[in-house]
Amino acid sequence: MRLILLGPPGAGKGTQAQRLVAKHKIVQLSTGDMLRAAVAAGTPVGLRAKSIMDAGQLVPDEVVVAIIADRIGQPDAKNGFVLDGFPRTVPQAEALDNLLAERGLKLDAVIELKVDEGILVKRIETRVAEMTARGEPLRKDDNPEVLKGRLAAYRAQTAPLAGYYDAKGMLKGVDGMAPIDDVTVAIDRILAAKPAGKKTIKKATAATAKAKPAKSKLAKAKPAKVKAKAKAATKAEKKAAKKAAKAAKKAAKKAEAARKAAKKAARKLAEKASKKAKKAKTGGKAGAAKGKAGRAKTKARRRLTKAS
Ligand code: AMP
Repeated sequence: MRLILLGPPGAGKGTQAQRLVAKHKIVQLSTGDMLRAAVAAGTPVGLRAKSIMDAGQLVPDEVVVAIIADRIGQPDAKNGFVLDGFPRTVPQAEALDNLLAERGLKLDAVIELKVDEGILVKRIETRVAEMTARGEPLRKDDNPEVLKGRLAAYRAQTAPLAGYYDAKGMLKGVDGMAPIDDVTVAIDRILAAKPAGKKTIKKATAATAKAKPAKSKLAKAKPAKVKAKAKAATKAEKKAAKKAAKAAKKAAKKAEAARKAAKKAARKLAEKASKKAKKAKTGGKAGAAKGKAGRAKTKARRRLTKAS
């Protein structure tokens, strides 16, 4: 597991980092601690960093990047690490990206401890008072005045890292003002969500696998659905056919009635015509009447054919 704890000085990064070390069997890489050790050992790096640190300013990027590059390559960092106090500038973050990429490593999370700066200054004042009362040695930069300078440096140079990691989708925030144990719980939850994320993928895969037979069930269900649909269609068709038959029957009846009526009318017309012809036989207009009767008869016959 490889983590970054972000947050201003005094936010509790060190305390949470130690808990993470114990829990995940990883190492805490605190550039502040390493620089203090270098100062104490009087190494060239220590000599260079001392006055900068005492003033609450940031040590040059190349110095801390070189320290981290060396440290993450050591065997005890193989299992993972929690970076505390590094990176502190965007160039440091970019250098870290390169260092990790060169080694084929990736960060798991960047956790930002969000704090109220005003309360932070009060906290450090209380801590300094308590340590002084216990007779414990104080860090040169552990006083409210230097802290204010360090907070200003944080705001100007380190706070932009939240945006840097947020843009990568890696930033998670926790309330750093909550009691220490609550902060630990919040961090644990974030980290638990990470493997759970893997679990979720596994679960999702399992669910998909389960869903597959369900899908085949659906496939089996399809013919039934089709059958039902077909049944429904047959029913509707039957109903329609019945309706059509009824209508046809009605139309046929009507046609028959019309045919009968036309036959009757034609017969009447024919009768009338033959009567007229008989009458004409006795009178001079017999030929004309016969022709008229014949035409009437043809007309009647035509009507009869049409009706049938
Ligand atoms: P810290 O213990 O993390 O608060 O660091 C103490 C001091 O060490 C800081 O005020 C800086 O002067 C210096 N320092 C620690 N880490 C860095 C870093 N990543 N970049 C620059 N300066 C650092």
